[in-house]
Amino acid sequence: MPQDPVPSLLSRATELLEKQFTSLPTFESTADLAAMERILEDVALRMGDNYPYFHPLYAGQMLKPPHPVARAAYALAMTINPNNHARDGGRASSEMEIEAVQGIAGIFGWTEFLGHLTSSGTMANLEALWVAGQLAPEKRIVGSEQAHYTHQRISAVLKLEYTSIAAGHRGRMDLEVLEAELRKGDVGTVVVTLGTTALGAVDPLDEVLVLRARYGFRVHVDAAYGGYFRLIFNALDAPARRAFEAISHADSIVIDPHKHGLQPYGCGCVLFRDPSVGRFYKHDSPYTYFTSKQLHLGEISLECSRAGASAVALWATQRLLPLVPGGEFARGLASSRAAALEIDRRLRQDKSGRFQPLATGAPELDIVVWKLKAASPERASALAQEIFSACAVRDLHLALVQLPSAWFEPVAESEPQSRTSDSAGLVTCLRSVLMKPEHEAWLDSIWERLTASCTEVMGGNRS
Ligand SMILES: *Cc1c(COP(=O)(O)O)cnc(C)c1O
Repeated sequence: MPQDPVPSLLSRATELLEKQFTSLPTFESTADLAAMERILEDVALRMGDNYPYFHPLYAGQMLKPPHPVARAAYALAMTINPNNHARDGGRASSEMEIEAVQGIAGIFGWTEFLGHLTSSGTMANLEALWVAGQLAPEKRIVGSEQAHYTHQRISAVLKLEYTSIAAGHRGRMDLEVLEAELRKGDVGTVVVTLGTTALGAVDPLDEVLVLRARYGFRVHVDAAYGGYFRLIFNALDAPARRAFEAISHADSIVIDPHKHGLQPYGCGCVLFRDPSVGRFYKHDSPYTYFTSKQLHLGEISLECSRAGASAVALWATQRLLPLVPGGEFARGLASSRAAALEIDRRLRQDKSGRFQPLATGAPELDIVVWKLKAASPERASALAQEIFSACAVRDLHLALVQLPSAWFEPVAESEPQSRTSDSAGLVTCLRSVLMKPEHEAWLDSIWERLTASCTEVMGGNRS
């Protein structure tokens, strides 16, 4: 592990914070220091039982370590432990939340909007679909079968009917299937995912917006994972670029700072293009109230208590790494994407022919998936599992994902984009989320460990 800068950053800043309260009479802490030290040793030992999420060789699930400045700011805020439910609970951290959320909305070109942090992407999506249900209580929510599994559950909680739309072989929502649903006239909201959890696939938002003009429905963009890629949309391939370009026309957007935004867990964000949806939270307030700087965040959110420290950490991180195209943060995303493209290229060019990447092309964001070539999907699934374990022995941590086998078979140009993914045809694949800025520099180490593991499991020539 590199030297952790947090303890020294923290000691200086804590002194500065404590100085502001020195006029108060002192009181003694009754905490037993020796006992706490012993217990923390136990905690340290127990926390060792984890995958090394902080290390570049952890390239499995969506885990990006929080930035040191975020950890330090979070810990510093814990001296106060503010609650962003109300100004009374956290004056400074409420202000910082408003500023940080303005920074996030700025990525999407929004200046007049309603938005706030949440404890997670799930809570943020719940809130967006709750508003959708308030606006159209009798209408359905639809989302692609590759949308996050919580949309269906959230809809059930809200007692809104939910319909799953087939995804084509790139993992994107199939527009023909969507339009067939829209023709029925009872779709209230379409959930469009920019960056699916499994593949990092980008639903064709621009084309969904064309349908919105024809059929009239609400567009909720779930960009919990992919939202920050708006900063580098010019570097994406055409379909994803067009989708991200269109994002400002969405009715609501969810983005998770605790996914790509270098934040500790407990940090999602929901944004509404029309600030007047604030009326659903608080009925007796005029429209302008909800854009006023003086609003209480608890009056525009479903959750009550919420960690003010999350807002402080986010604010500090955005201070250090402003959310602007071409900035250091954006360059980190570009580097993650470059790493994913390079691994994908090597998988495709590998001479041993052991790998079957997605038949339809390179990753849209920074997530790579591939299947092992084998006589049957069962065998391919078993191989993926074995290679996953063999990589872990070599300290390379990947992930597994189940996808339709058909997505890995060559496709003819003439074929319709949808190959319906019957669950019978699923195969376990290897998946790597290359979301750390360091991953690009570690590519060769990752590739070496992967190919050595494959050779061990499958035999055959090294490449
Ligand atoms: C992670 C994710 C969610 C859920 O967010 P949590 O913060 O884990 O609750 C929702 N949608 C997408 C696309 C995601 O990637």
